[in-house]
Amino acid sequence: MLILVINCGSSSAKYQLFDIEKDKVLAKGLLERIGSDGANLKHQSNGDILNKKVACKDHDVAINIIVGALTDAVHGVIRSKDEIKGIGHRVVHGGEEFKESTLITSRVIGSIEKYCELAPLHNPPSLLGIKACSKILKNVPQVAVFDTSFHQTMPARSFLYGLPFKYYKKFGIRKYGFHGTSHRFVSGAAAKVLKKPLSSLKLITCHLGNGCSMAAVDRGKSVDTSMGFTPLEGLLMGTRSGDLDPAVVFYMMEKERIGPNRISDILNKESGLLGLSGISNDMRDILKAARGKGPGSRRAKIALEIFVYRIKKYIGAYQAAMGDLDAVIFTAGISENNPWLIKKIASDLRKVVSKKVKFLVIPTNEELLIARDAYKIIKKRSA
Ligand code: ADP
Repeated sequence: MLILVINCGSSSAKYQLFDIEKDKVLAKGLLERIGSDGANLKHQSNGDILNKKVACKDHDVAINIIVGALTDAVHGVIRSKDEIKGIGHRVVHGGEEFKESTLITSRVIGSIEKYCELAPLHNPPSLLGIKACSKILKNVPQVAVFDTSFHQTMPARSFLYGLPFKYYKKFGIRKYGFHGTSHRFVSGAAAKVLKKPLSSLKLITCHLGNGCSMAAVDRGKSVDTSMGFTPLEGLLMGTRSGDLDPAVVFYMMEKERIGPNRISDILNKESGLLGLSGISNDMRDILKAARGKGPGSRRAKIALEIFVYRIKKYIGAYQAAMGDLDAVIFTAGISENNPWLIKKIASDLRKVVSKKVKFLVIPTNEELLIARDAYKIIKKRSA
């Protein structure tokens, strides 16, 4: 069965076409600068890469371009769009309603719309992608896979903040957690590597990419995670501050005479590795500067130390929360491309965790999990 996986951002759309029974990617690509006459399509298939400038005014046109690339006589991999039997969409926020992936119906679209308030940058473009697919790939069943759903197993002691309870009831203010598809994928993959059932393992998963988050996965269930109401909480990230005393926010607003939008920009876009080092949000640049003797080297070293220290602190906390620990899993861009840094973190941790704890680097594959979920749900529906 051919499953198309789509991840729509406000100005970009990533896609992969899977032959899911064979776990095989037939084609994949990225369309950037949606909303402009100078959009760029990068399409990969059969070992070939096609780079093409295209006019793409909106997400409807974007989905048409993607279907066109997949069915193209030269670079395509299918003869007709009718060969696509299912679509899996990455959707960031499913609130408390979606505890697992779900077939998209008009009711589900309504709920995703409702959660736009909680993920104003992410849910609206997913909806545009879903609506475009229902026009262009009419009658092809669509499945939504939520970043938040894996963490819906967290107990109240992990997800509630110490705020008046009415704000949870009134506005849904609580920890939701993100990167759930990645944490779920690497937990399952780790169980295979360790040759033990997931239901017997206590794992800590560390997704270290542009955004960074950790999860305590107790016998296959997320029981705590470092990101919160939004992806701003927790670890130090490329441009996000992570954990912070909320009083800092009011103090800065008062001192700098700035409003909520500006302070949000500072915390989300100007902090983290970038803000501390003054050099870059990219870990490669931080490592290079930290090794050098230049003027930025001292601050790069501090940024790196804070990055590592927070990971260590969360590992201690999550080990205590679960009462035991079998393995720590590292995944995403920083983990997958920098064995030196991961070894450094692991050797540092070795001193504080029991000898039986394994450290593993496992590449994440959120698209594959989205395709698998879509396949399972669509197959069950047609059975
Ligand atoms: P995203 O969260 O956007 O999916 P990725 O998981 O692709 O991000 O990770 C991207 C990040 O990986 C980059 O910002 C960069 O900091 C980091 N990265 C990539 N290669 C290396 C490397 N060789 N060493 C350290 N960090 C790296």
